[in-house]
Amino acid sequence: MENKPNILTQRYELGRLLGQGTFGKVYYARSTITSQSVAIKMVSKDKVLKSGQTEQIKREISVMRRVRHPNIIQLYEVMATKSKIYFVIEYAKGGELFDKVAKGKLKEDVAHRYFQQLVNAIDFCHSRGVYHRDIKPENLLLDENENLKVSDFGLSALAESKRQDDLLHTPCGTPAYVAPEIIKRKGYDGAKADTWSCGVVLFVLLAGYHPFHDPNLIMMYRKISRADYKFPNWFSLEVRRLLTKVLDPDPDTRIPLAKIKESSWFMKGPSSRERKSEWVNKSVSTSGTKPCDQTNESESIAAEATQESVVPTSINAFDIISRSKGFDLSGFFEDCFKKKEAIFSSRQPASVIVSKMEEIAKHLRLMIKKRAPGLFKLEGLKEGRKGIISIEVEIFEAAPCFHLVEMKKSNGDTLEYQSILKEEIRPALKDIVWVWQGEQQQQQSQPSEDHIQMHDRPATTSTSTTHF
Ligand code: ATP
Ligand code: MG
Repeated sequence: MENKPNILTQRYELGRLLGQGTFGKVYYARSTITSQSVAIKMVSKDKVLKSGQTEQIKREISVMRRVRHPNIIQLYEVMATKSKIYFVIEYAKGGELFDKVAKGKLKEDVAHRYFQQLVNAIDFCHSRGVYHRDIKPENLLLDENENLKVSDFGLSALAESKRQDDLLHTPCGTPAYVAPEIIKRKGYDGAKADTWSCGVVLFVLLAGYHPFHDPNLIMMYRKISRADYKFPNWFSLEVRRLLTKVLDPDPDTRIPLAKIKESSWFMKGPSSRERKSEWVNKSVSTSGTKPCDQTNESESIAAEATQESVVPTSINAFDIISRSKGFDLSGFFEDCFKKKEAIFSSRQPASVIVSKMEEIAKHLRLMIKKRAPGLFKLEGLKEGRKGIISIEVEIFEAAPCFHLVEMKKSNGDTLEYQSILKEEIRPALKDIVWVWQGEQQQQQSQPSEDHIQMHDRPATTSTSTTHF
């Protein structure tokens, strides 16, 4: 067991816990020499080593040192002991931006200013070849002057490894801000993915809720991959025009950051004259809110915010199961059966799932018609009672080796479809199914104990995870 090392306590007086992330904790601290407030992010070397991230950590250090911008949390220094790495970083006094949104949507000019700062920070890093890849509420902080500060820039290797890692072993951030191309396949352009996330952030600031919000993870994935969202009626025409281009599911046609910066909405200055007091008051639609300059208060606000549906909480495979009996989220799946949909999760790679489907199709004398990556149809060769039977299959990648597969009838007789599904397809899928929606997961799918121990987020140590 290692306590806080001397060098740290000599130079920094450690204060309260500001928060906890996947790889460690963040503490408030004050320099004993200059009295400057800082935040210290402690990353466990052990965890990083286990996930083979040594080189990435080194790269992050040099990246964070290279990147300096008024809207990016600055890295002051790095210290290391045998078991931990300590990042001494700029302290963001104002807490998380989304604590404000949790209290109500922002006025357009207020959201406009945050969006400008966000885009400027991200664009600055992109111009230096650094991509964030993990833009999410916890990484958007505020300083005492209500300026946006993007945190964890340069920690993209960690964020990336987290995604590449098995979803079952390490907590995985909410997919809510993740671009469709990341959900669909592994290869993606970091700049375009960051642009998408900026669009989601802008939507949330202006709407007060998430564009793809759905209590059901599969539905959320589907909405993201199709950019299926609706503008609330208070969104101005200019914002709609811009967001339509940013939330484009096709990264090739998605508007680049440089063009966002040239757009009329982005360019128009905030209507207020940036008098701080004026727009602090405007920033939340509820009255009587104080600026978040009291540390204790911001902590309790953060705690409250996690209760709000506006701020999506982290979702991982443990949560999927623990929040549900056998994958059954919020009663949605009961309706699924009525809709003739069947969903299962699989811990196999997509290629194995597709091969299995091909095998089944061959056996059942069905034709496979590919529609798009991860989307195909199984079609009968001859007319049935109500036309040719057709089953649409869609594979969503939640993480490498964790897929959600949805099957539904798109044509033909319902009874015929149900009987094929029950008597042929479901038994044939036995080897690759981890859990069917609405059912308990199978015993043989239990990961080993040490995987459970790798979890140190309180949210994932609930009793429901122990039955894995
Ligand atoms: P992940 O591990 O996926 O990056 P995260 O961003 O929540 O998740 P951390 O970066 O470790 O994890 O941060 C944990 C929390 O600490 C944040 O949610 C934020 O509220 C707080 N925090 C982080 N950096 C600072 C900072 N420089 N100033 C003030 N608070 C901070
Ligand atoms: Mg962070």
